Amino acid sequence: MSLTITRTQEYVDVIEHEHKFVTGPGSWFGFPCDAEGNVDVEKLPDAARKNYHICLTGKYGEGEVVEISSSYIEPAAGKCECGQVLILRGDQTCDCGRMYNRSGQELARTGFDDRPGEEY
Ligand SMILES: [Zn+2]
Repeated sequence: MSLTITRTQEYVDVIEHEHKFVTGPGSWFGFPCDAEGNVDVEKLPDAARKNYHICLTGKYGEGEVVEISSSYIEPAAGKCECGQVLILRGDQTCDCGRMYNRSGQELARTGFDDRPGEEY
């Protein structure tokens, strides 16, 4: 048996922006911002906020807004025969004791059947 796939695996692309101030060869301060370079100062940790205020004095120029793209895999999900939904990050064991691989195929159990709730 296998899971009923409720969501297929997806590649998710993420575009973020950073206001970058070069402080020297190979070193810089970068602050998360929107595409226009607006930094949400309230969300910065104290040390970063302090550095950002130093950068705003013009010590390292005006800085530039850079685009940072990354991607990640959103794993598939599937519903077990018992009704529980599992995220398929690898081999998964459902609370009912069934095991599935990342494709949602049920794995054979070896040895004693120790599925919880079953009498011997
Ligand atoms: Zn289950």
